[in-house]
Amino acid sequence: MSQYQAVKGTRDIFPEEATQWKYVERVVHTLASLYGFSEIRVPVFEYTELFQRGIGSTTDIVGKEMFSFQPDPKGRSLTLRPEMTAGVMRAALQKNLLSLAPVHKLYYIGELFRKERPQAGRQRQFSQFGSELIGVSSPAAVAEVITLMMHVFESLGLRGLKLRINTLGDGADRARYREALQAYFAPFHEILDDASKERLEKNPLRILDSKNPAMQELVDGAPRLYDYLNGSSLQDFEKVLFYLAERNIAYDIDHRLVRGLDYYSHTAFEVTSSELGAQDAIGGGGRYDGLARELGSTADVPASGFAVGMERLLITMEKQGLFAALNSPGPQVSIVLQQQDLLDHALQIAWRLRKAGIKTEIDLAARSMKAQMREANRIRASYALFVGTAEYTTGNYTLKNLATSEQRTLSLDAVLQILHEPAARELLE
Ligand code: AMP
Repeated sequence: MSQYQAVKGTRDIFPEEATQWKYVERVVHTLASLYGFSEIRVPVFEYTELFQRGIGSTTDIVGKEMFSFQPDPKGRSLTLRPEMTAGVMRAALQKNLLSLAPVHKLYYIGELFRKERPQAGRQRQFSQFGSELIGVSSPAAVAEVITLMMHVFESLGLRGLKLRINTLGDGADRARYREALQAYFAPFHEILDDASKERLEKNPLRILDSKNPAMQELVDGAPRLYDYLNGSSLQDFEKVLFYLAERNIAYDIDHRLVRGLDYYSHTAFEVTSSELGAQDAIGGGGRYDGLARELGSTADVPASGFAVGMERLLITMEKQGLFAALNSPGPQVSIVLQQQDLLDHALQIAWRLRKAGIKTEIDLAARSMKAQMREANRIRASYALFVGTAEYTTGNYTLKNLATSEQRTLSLDAVLQILHEPAARELLE
């Protein structure tokens, strides 16, 4: 064993699990493309200010969870991305994407870094996939991203997920609500925990986010933002719900679901999985019409998006047995070498098969023929191709179908042909 261990809060993904990741990623790529979203890949680190502005300095992420570093004494502080939206919006503004077309639909899959206390379902390096619809903001746009997200879950076969949805109204609604919250919490100042006391002044909406059980009763009695919405905000929300209903997407309205940042407006949503423990959120998102201005844009660049945690999604799928049928296909051919002095010749054959697009395995550990056959069966190879002295001298090789045990002696060209024949290929499926 090495004296080194993976850093706490990070983990290795070994081949079997990597197959599960690739499967989920393939579904994400396929469905994102079905909805007209194109992939964007942004850098893993950005200037720290981007996240301070883009996520908000009163949030836990910016307050205590960022991995920041200074590359040189005079350099600007950099931070490993703790979420994707700020980077994607930065990229879109930097490239002036909206001058090319009024709407851009982007999606991503990538790693994020947060200095959280590691526990089940909470890592310091984790991954998300998500989408950002940039340029318009409307019930139709936000319904589009929710629908894509739910379509991915459905395609993966996930059961028992809960979509909770709420509206945060517009800026004026929230200004009225903020005052109402401050008026409600002020008499309880003494019993507020320290975090809530701080939030009372700066951002009382975030008190509603409190995970402290001691605060729950107080939070439950607080006024609801819903009661402070103006007519057009209400209509906006109704329309989002209408789209979801039309598409058979079940939801629960949750008036406590808030995003405590001013650039969020109208719809906010979260999906939870009953298969996860305390960290049961699998994804979420909303509309963030004010983010671009926060990042220095002089024009309004409205947007909606979602982000889903890959690890929690995979944990849920594993618990629901959704990977059971997922086996990466074995090689088409496993070369079985009768004598080690023919290794170079056999390697040349392997190379020719692979150049012809035939998935080929060959033993590099100088194992006995028996052991090579055992290995060919273990890796579920469809055919064994024997290479021995007779084959070497005649140029004819024995190809054995491992499913039927039928075998034929053929030239290499004939072998290549058989393995390319559709009928032979079907046999391999
Ligand atoms: P957020 O960006 O905080 O809204 O998170 C969106 C999703 O990312 C969550 O619902 C989780 O599934 C996932 N997630 C967030 N933080 C972590 C973490 N530290 N470890 C694993 N997954 C996470």
